[in-house]
Amino acid sequence: MSRHSDREPVLIAGAGIAGLCTALGLLRAGVPVRVLEQAAELREVGAAVSLAPNATRALDSLGVGEALREASNWPQRAAMKHYRTGEEMSAYAMGAEMERRWVSPYLQILRADLHTVLVDELRRLDPAALQLGARVLGLKQDGDSVSVETAAGAFSGGCLLGADGVRSAVRAALYDDGAPTFTGYVAWRGVVPVESLRNPDFTPDTAVFLGPHRTLLRYRVRGQSAVNVVAFARVDGWAEEGWSLPADPAELRANFAGWHAEAEDMIEGLCRSGAFKWGLFGRAALPRWQQGRVSLIGDAAHPMLPFLGQGAAMAIEDGVLVARALELALQKGLGVEAGLACYERQRYPRACNTVLRSDAHGLRIHQHFVDAPEGTPVPRDDFVEFDFDAATTPLDI
Ligand SMILES: Cc1cc2nc3c(=O)[nH]c(=O)nc-3n(C[C@H](O)[C@H](O)[C@H](O)COP(=O)(O)OP(=O)(O)OC[C@H]3O[C@@H](n4cnc5c(N)ncnc54)[C@H](O)[C@@H]3O)c2cc1C
Repeated sequence: MSRHSDREPVLIAGAGIAGLCTALGLLRAGVPVRVLEQAAELREVGAAVSLAPNATRALDSLGVGEALREASNWPQRAAMKHYRTGEEMSAYAMGAEMERRWVSPYLQILRADLHTVLVDELRRLDPAALQLGARVLGLKQDGDSVSVETAAGAFSGGCLLGADGVRSAVRAALYDDGAPTFTGYVAWRGVVPVESLRNPDFTPDTAVFLGPHRTLLRYRVRGQSAVNVVAFARVDGWAEEGWSLPADPAELRANFAGWHAEAEDMIEGLCRSGAFKWGLFGRAALPRWQQGRVSLIGDAAHPMLPFLGQGAAMAIEDGVLVARALELALQKGLGVEAGLACYERQRYPRACNTVLRSDAHGLRIHQHFVDAPEGTPVPRDDFVEFDFDAATTPLDI
């Protein structure tokens, strides 16, 4: 069996959430990494992200817990609200109660701040690990190594992880399964300064407004100073060039006309704050992720709709798990291919199940006011994934 030499780095395509978490996990285990990122400078875009307890637990295991807590909000209560009346149709406690139940906290953070926490730790562990301006263009593998051609030159390593998102070049090179397809949802996202709102004292700190074919999510970030607003709508198609563009205020207002004053306040905030409109794209599940010394993680492997708030969480869990699996395989002298196979066995069912549940939950919340009989209980997430611990779950190698 061919072996991964201790000196050969693990190559990681993409310095997003999945790639950075994988790099941290490997460096903590003493395995060298090279992170190949297409961007010439790191500039994370796209508003904020919720980190459920399974995500914060995994991030704690990577040694970034303290910095993460400093940069995050700790929401205290969440509600589902009626789109027209603003009435709370259901609510639950977050904060200390969630942390007691799940042991780890539920946090909310600007994506740029999460990215900074991860990159700072990466640079602390290995200042040379991150290669910017290195768009992956192609790859080749043989029994001993993988070589990757990038815009910044060629790199070689013992294995390669494609952490390059829903439009993954690594996935295309392995499986050639075409472009991502439009899921039928658009999202307008932005971060609105609280002081610019008509009512800066809105409660609770986290809420989702449910309306026919539309939902609006808002939660506080950066202490009390800003609110992350995401407005979703189901639409027939995506005819735009590319997958995100500056929001057209008239279109945004028309989509949420007649909504409750608090929701309208958020929509006006989005219009003022230079929000973007995003088409949400997905992919059919691959039968497997690994091919020899190359595999996929995060959105490159299993893109999902955002309605359970678990896309980044799954990317973080993947990173922790693949690092553990590779470390174990190397320790046992089994080679990187065995490590990648172990990662896939462990992750595939959980990630694919979360993709399906995110689809189903999205449909439920967008259809609630369309065809649910009067009195149907408000759909609620059942939190099944929150107790998973990527750092300690047993590995089958
Ligand atoms: C509206 C919305 C709201 C969301 N909210 C949440 C939430 O609340 N909670 C949650 O857990 N998840 C959420 N998600 C999902 C989450 O954002 C993604 O699942 C997560 O960012 C995936 O991380 P990733 O590292 O796999 O991919 P990405 O974040 O897409 O990172 C990919 C990286 O690869 C780089 N790259 C791309 N191509 C190449 C190439 N050829 N060569 C080199 N580098 C390349 C990119 O520049 C980028 O840095 C949300 C998603 C959306 C759309």
